[in-house]
Amino acid sequence: MYSNNRFKFRRSRFGHSNHGSFYRGNTSRGNFRNGGRKSKLLGQDINMFIKKAKPIDPTETPIAHSTFNEFFLSESLKQNIAKKGYVKPTPIQDQAISPILKNKDLMGTASTGTGKTAAFLIPIIDKIYKNKKDKAIIITPTRELAVQINDELKNLSFNMGIYSTVVIGGENIRNQIRCLQRNSQVVIGTPGRIKDLLKRNALSLKNFSIFVLDEVDMMVDIGFIQDIKYFISLLPQVRQSLFFSATIPPKVQELLKTFVKNPITISLKKQDTSENVDQNIVRVINKNKKIEQLHELLIKDGFDKVLIFGRTKHEIERLNKELISRGFKSGSIHGNKSQGQRQRVLQNFKKNNLQILLATDVASRGIDIDSVTHVINYDLPQTYEDYIHRIGRTGRANKKGVALTFID
Ligand code: AMP
Repeated sequence: MYSNNRFKFRRSRFGHSNHGSFYRGNTSRGNFRNGGRKSKLLGQDINMFIKKAKPIDPTETPIAHSTFNEFFLSESLKQNIAKKGYVKPTPIQDQAISPILKNKDLMGTASTGTGKTAAFLIPIIDKIYKNKKDKAIIITPTRELAVQINDELKNLSFNMGIYSTVVIGGENIRNQIRCLQRNSQVVIGTPGRIKDLLKRNALSLKNFSIFVLDEVDMMVDIGFIQDIKYFISLLPQVRQSLFFSATIPPKVQELLKTFVKNPITISLKKQDTSENVDQNIVRVINKNKKIEQLHELLIKDGFDKVLIFGRTKHEIERLNKELISRGFKSGSIHGNKSQGQRQRVLQNFKKNNLQILLATDVASRGIDIDSVTHVINYDLPQTYEDYIHRIGRTGRANKKGVALTFID
């Protein structure tokens, strides 16, 4: 079923990537079966979707020089970290915690699933605990990621008197306003809802001394950049800014530098995609029978927890119905579902009540689901960055994963 054939897509609108070369001529080199119809990720060598994972060495988990003791964190925080099961810092935590504790601005890049969330939450919690006047605002591109960061915050700050509010769309704004009035030291949200709350004077940014953009390259993408600039104009001049992602292209880094002062830059990526993910392609033999090929895969041994990405909400929904009618335990999340439905399906997938989660790119950023065995790109992602984030949902926390990309 898998194929290692080499052929190249045709002309691309694929951005700033140095993966593979452009191919502008003859398509006869491979089984280019779609009659030359343009594919979204045109122009790239498909070898970019084929890579063996490096063998997992359990003694390597995690590779860090320090222990949490060396950061002089408060006792309660150290206890919460231990309760979470974190014995040693991951490399990004190893390098980010100290500078953040010293109030430095920071831009951090590390592969997907390597502990970036705790890399900023641990020092933020410590700072707020020791100085109750500190307040942090954390902005993320998706609602699910905001909820997930809040869950980790609650675990890591358990019993420390630190309160947070999640401000995201699709949920009751009045509850969020009430919660904000109780003076949360940490606010975590998505740009649309934050803007709404600012308009209603239910939120003021002037006292937030710590500003975090998670999945920062997406946050300063065209869709969000005006909002982010607006938020920055409302934040105090003297503040700490922390930016994280698995992908920060050079152009974005330049832009980000205009928002920070003498930042520490940490880059811990050996390669763009996670080293723990085995990547391969599945060549579509007959477009009308693509679903059959997917079905064949899903009944194989080992396809226990499979995240499938598709392009549009409608295609995802159709595929979900089809898989359910074939007897699979499948669910879907995309923009047409209510926030409650999205969260419920995600929880069911996390708890292994579903074998399959179908999603648009709404689930490609930051979402941490334990032990996803396979990520399947049923449709090609729009950009190589999207690809990196999609397949980064597997092979997390030093576990191995498989990513398969369907090539029409
Ligand atoms: P993140 O990249 O923040 O989504 O984290 C990826 C996964 O690594 C999550 O499941 C975390 O709970 C886990 N993790 C984070 N820090 C550590 C650590 N120091 N030791 C072990 N696991 C960790």
